Amino acid sequence: MRVHGDVKIARRKDIVNKEYYGDFLKELREDFDCICGYCGKPEKVTRNAFEIDHFIPKSLAPELENDYNNLVYSCFTCNRKKSNKWPTKDISKCNDGNVGFIDPTSDEFDLHLNRIEDGTIIGLSPVGEYMCNNVFKFKLRPIKEIWICSEIMERQEQLEKRISKMTSEESSEYIQINMKLKELTQVLFSKKE
Ligand SMILES: [Zn+2]
Repeated sequence: MRVHGDVKIARRKDIVNKEYYGDFLKELREDFDCICGYCGKPEKVTRNAFEIDHFIPKSLAPELENDYNNLVYSCFTCNRKKSNKWPTKDISKCNDGNVGFIDPTSDEFDLHLNRIEDGTIIGLSPVGEYMCNNVFKFKLRPIKEIWICSEIMERQEQLEKRISKMTSEESSEYIQINMKLKELTQVLFSKKE
């Protein structure tokens, strides 16, 4: 499975330049379909605000600060973990085959990072492992719980659409998933996700 599930993120090509990167928030949010480019967490699963990450850090490439192609829609946690890391120290080289990053909007991203059946994110290459373990620390975060939470929320929405004509099985499923959701959001909240 892909880190982003069924969502295909891509930055629009017809963007008009802006003087301040923060003004791209609306477009970036749409292009990333409201999910974090790095961990795939949907906005609706978290209480934290989403942010704009600079793929190549501002400190290294101030000239790219307001370049739309350098922006990544990111959850609060991923943005903090990534911070100004750029191990190659070379802005023309996002990784050296061992350490560094892969742009989450590139097709290549899926070759380096993947999501296993239970929702956990794993690295498929040295760079993928570097991102998972050294930067985003997916093993220490409730990545699986976030994934289950987003799947449950989708089911909850489906059931809510039929709330007036729910069968008794659906009603009990609805109660069950709401209890599970409460449990999961507690875990997420306690882990600051
Ligand atoms: Zn994230």
